[in-house]
Amino acid sequence: MATLRDILYERVREADPQLCEPIDRNRIRCYACGHCCPIPEGQPGVCKVRINRGGTLYVPWGYVGGVQCDPIEKKPFFHAYPGTLAYSFGMLGCDLHCAYCQNWVTSQALRDPEAISPPLEAAPEFLVKDALAQGAKVVVSTYNEPLITSEWAVAVSREARKAGLLTGYVSNGNGTPKVLEFLRPWIDLYKVDLKSFDDRHYRQLGGRIQPILETIRTLHKMGLWLEVVTLLIPGFNDSDDELRRLAEFLSGVSPDIPWHVTAFHQDYKMTSPDDTGPKDLLRAVAIGRDAGLHYVYAGNLPGLVGNCEDTLCHQCGADMIRRYGYRIQDYRITPQGQCPECHATIPGRWSRQFEGQVAARPFLPQQRAQLVRILSRQNR
Ligand code: SF4
Repeated sequence: MATLRDILYERVREADPQLCEPIDRNRIRCYACGHCCPIPEGQPGVCKVRINRGGTLYVPWGYVGGVQCDPIEKKPFFHAYPGTLAYSFGMLGCDLHCAYCQNWVTSQALRDPEAISPPLEAAPEFLVKDALAQGAKVVVSTYNEPLITSEWAVAVSREARKAGLLTGYVSNGNGTPKVLEFLRPWIDLYKVDLKSFDDRHYRQLGGRIQPILETIRTLHKMGLWLEVVTLLIPGFNDSDDELRRLAEFLSGVSPDIPWHVTAFHQDYKMTSPDDTGPKDLLRAVAIGRDAGLHYVYAGNLPGLVGNCEDTLCHQCGADMIRRYGYRIQDYRITPQGQCPECHATIPGRWSRQFEGQVAARPFLPQQRAQLVRILSRQNR
């Protein structure tokens, strides 16, 4: 019987030349993520999904590990087209191995034998058609680490752009200058998961902090819309000192970068720390504000964090978007993207008109059944 590895290794195509180069002894250097693996012939890189065959790098192509429609607030983007529906898709695999990953079934495929997530064959044109049929405005590459499957994400983004849709990445930020240049023309919104401000913690997760900080600086310089998330894990990354250094770093890049501190709950292999409580989220919010960040949000504990789910004007404090979890309760930003009270310009990407929220909770696209049918027909 074919294994998941056999199935995935059949669904590949050659890597984009921008993202790799031959080195010595038939090895190939991959630049899709910050590991920059020198991949020997016949082997995959650290992510397990990009493989060197005969001195050519082959990369994932033509499938999805999952598709879902989400309110854009779930990604989370709070300063990008609030209320919009994001059509999210992902492939399989990751360059890190976080013990608390909430998407481990897709991200740890090929690394953890328990992570079984059968891929569904799909074409970019079909995904975009499906996104349009659902009423999505943004197509987002997420669930696995999109950097390691950037050729496929860009193929979907190209189609999405042709159809007038926006595009986004939800990523751990472990990038390289080459992959960010590759993405630059095709990605509008980028969320980076900044997991810690301590290199030792990053090494536990299988990475290094430096490429992630560099990605944040570069994305901001490039002008992509950037929001940053930190999952607050008691005893791992939540000391005052670490949070202060992290927030000061972000504020130094730009005080206008929204920072979401979100509550951890036990998941995957991390079952010993307590779940994060509202007190700790509010402590992190206060640290972020003290560091000069204009927009700091407390996430994952709807209704328990006062107005820290809301967007308050950084200049006059007016409540401009009220939220409960992903649900928008009130929206008052002007069509010009300004505060309705003091007319300060609010950093973000705003629609000319807020047309209500398309969906307040995630759902599987109605045509998922159709997608599966088409795929099984193709597979016959
Ligand atoms: S994407 Fe990252 S982990 Fe995967 S082969 Fe390339 S450099 Fe290595």
